[in-house]
Amino acid sequence: MTRPEKSHKPHTSPYPNLLSPLDLGFTTLRNRVVMGSMHTGLEDRARHTDRLAEYFAERARGGVGLIITGGYAPNRTGWLLPFASELVTTAQARRHRRITAAVHDNGGKILLQILHAGRYAYHPLSVSASSIKAPINPFRPRALSSRGVESTINDFVRCAQLAREAGYDGVEIMGSEGYLLNQFLATRTNKRTDAWGGAPANRRRLPVEIVRRTRAAVGSDFIICYRMSMADYVEDGQTWQEIVSLATDVEAAGATIINSGFGWHEARVPTIVTSVPNSAFVDISSAVAEHVRIPVVASNRINMPQAAEQVLAETQVRLISMARPMLSDPEWVLKAQSDRADEINTCISCNQACLDHAFARKTVSCLLNPRAGHETTLLLSPTRRARSVAVVGAGPAGLATAVNAAKRGHDVTLFEANEFIGGQFDMARRIPGKEEFSETIRYFSTMLARHGVGVRLGARVSADELTGYDEVVLATGVAPRIPEIPGIDHPKVLTYAEAITGAKPVGKTVAVVGAGGIGFDVTELLVTDSSPTGEPQGLKEWKAEWGVADPQEAPGALTTPLPAPPAREVYLLQRTKGRQGKRLGKTTGWVHRAAVKAKGVHQLSGVNYERISDDGLHISFGPDRQRPQVLAVDNVVICAGQEPVRDLETELRRNGVDPHIIGGAAVAEELDAKRAIKQGTELAAQL
Ligand code: FAD
Ligand code: NAP
Ligand code: SF4
Repeated sequence: MTRPEKSHKPHTSPYPNLLSPLDLGFTTLRNRVVMGSMHTGLEDRARHTDRLAEYFAERARGGVGLIITGGYAPNRTGWLLPFASELVTTAQARRHRRITAAVHDNGGKILLQILHAGRYAYHPLSVSASSIKAPINPFRPRALSSRGVESTINDFVRCAQLAREAGYDGVEIMGSEGYLLNQFLATRTNKRTDAWGGAPANRRRLPVEIVRRTRAAVGSDFIICYRMSMADYVEDGQTWQEIVSLATDVEAAGATIINSGFGWHEARVPTIVTSVPNSAFVDISSAVAEHVRIPVVASNRINMPQAAEQVLAETQVRLISMARPMLSDPEWVLKAQSDRADEINTCISCNQACLDHAFARKTVSCLLNPRAGHETTLLLSPTRRARSVAVVGAGPAGLATAVNAAKRGHDVTLFEANEFIGGQFDMARRIPGKEEFSETIRYFSTMLARHGVGVRLGARVSADELTGYDEVVLATGVAPRIPEIPGIDHPKVLTYAEAITGAKPVGKTVAVVGAGGIGFDVTELLVTDSSPTGEPQGLKEWKAEWGVADPQEAPGALTTPLPAPPAREVYLLQRTKGRQGKRLGKTTGWVHRAAVKAKGVHQLSGVNYERISDDGLHISFGPDRQRPQVLAVDNVVICAGQEPVRDLETELRRNGVDPHIIGGAAVAEELDAKRAIKQGTELAAQL
């Protein structure tokens, strides 16, 4: 099949393909960057329309070529949650005009995503191809009758017409991630024997009919993007032949663009967390693109311009979808255009403030950019009264304060005891699968210089050195808690900091005391044979670990997992009874729990730490100290939480200085970088 030429024109941009326009025939996208769909929670209530409009406007101002909204249901059976977002009336469409106008006024284009949740709907009205309950949802769906299928098609078409009325440039029809249309496509969920089930052509009839009838209803000058699952990562998922036939059929039915989706929500293969290698799924999108003439969009784990450019230059895909990267940095495209990629606040795929918030029904934001979703209230406008500000501590809290205060025009000096910035985050980036956290340190480092912050490294300041400033910010963070276990001073004992930084060597058998976020991270570090260069895991090894096959070779793209053997024998311990890792992130915790299990880590709960001796760690279980035993380990690594570091406070107050105390220095309990950066940014906005 003949394909359009790649860009060979002389171009001063380092990203000639990424930043070149794409002519769709009836309309032109200004570049190849698509902001993928993300449900923010602001879609669900009319009163949030202006907030949502400003959220999109900020991304349009930042240069994104094409924005896709969060999902809107075409009818109430398709709601994700009771009374969740829908587009079913002209009154609703009228409200959307504020969103489409805000995007168009800033030179962008926007599609409305039509999403029918099918059996993922969290309410009793849910429907699917067959009445088979999803493993992640307590509600059993009703099987749609054939009349129900017809009316569902009509509802999709009506929703697209309303989107057109509302001023959208088109719609994205959501057919991936295991939602309704995906449920019709796979034999896993479609056991029908009528015209909508059985043979592959019958199973794909619903999405193809929706595209065909939508095109007939909306005319030829309206974008129809179809998002298809290119690898389901579930048993009885689609075959490669079925995937390719779906692509060619939706193209023939009138789709303008095909977007990529990978993995159902119930899949046990991670597809978007930090440990998934960058550009992991690009080859699959490119293989689909070989079969169609319309543009195919690559997605998942592409977050920097160089990588996006490489994908466009070397594969058959013609657009790049980035959803979370546009949360963490709305100016991503502008920075790429002006060759300032080092100023991009790179999404680290932590999910902590975006997807985890969505699942907890909180407004979606970003760990790195707390303004996301709060554009109308968290303002960082230039100050009218520049002040001198001393920030003590260059962990996430201090960095966020220093950069944002300086950006507002304050005269900021940042003191850091270490010879490097990052605080505890500098340890996080050394954990296998979290290497990308280095990007955050690179970002802050660039921005400190850009905004003229005076950075004093290796400067453990005293209270006396902090007099004379208009404002003093204590962001001195946390230190590892040392529990009172007899023998805690034994040479076998290491703090997590000593184990992570390599300050002390770690033997072959290890007990990890404390199974919180850091206990899990340290365990993963200890069981992994880290690459000597600190490189992240390669795609081949990642696929073997998670049992990921090429979709061209296995239906559902699954095979038997073959994780690399553990580098050490590790016992992960906690005092609380029950399953470990319950408080890890909603959308990432399962990945850590599965990774630790796959490495054969001994997980013991309800443990009493009796003492530490030359023989190892002596433990027992329960209030009656039953089953006493000795874990004959070479080392005991303490991951028992943290205590605030606030030793400067008393003396500062004695000197008449009233400091702002933020991050771990304020409260160590349940501290994470999300809270630290949010507090730092909010303080900078108030100074
Ligand atoms: P800190 O990061 O502790 O920074 C305080 C800084 O102050 C330090 O650099 C210290 O040297 C400096 N300082 C102290 N006293 C002085 C002084 N007198 N003068 C000058 N400088 C001083 N969080 C997440 O959200 N997600 C994660 O995935 C995650 N993973 C983690 C993994 C590991 C292994 C670790 C250790 C932590 C992880 N965290 C994670 C936690 C996160 O890093 C912390 O919550 C965050 O760093 C706290 O920020 P902070 O700025 O309050 O304090
Ligand atoms: P944590 O999650 O609070 O866990 C501390 C662990 O130490 C708990 O398992 C606790 O379990 C144990 N513990 C507490 N006091 C103890 C004592 N006196 N003696 C023995 N054990 C004790 O804290 P953390 O692991 O240090 O992590 C710090 C923060 O960083 C967390 O809030 C976390 O959110 C964040 N973080 C996040 C991630 C992530 O992936 N999102 C990763 C790493 C860190 P028992 O009381 O049951 O023994
Ligand atoms: Fe990316 Fe984490 Fe921000 Fe979500 S919260 S957008 S994953 S950096």
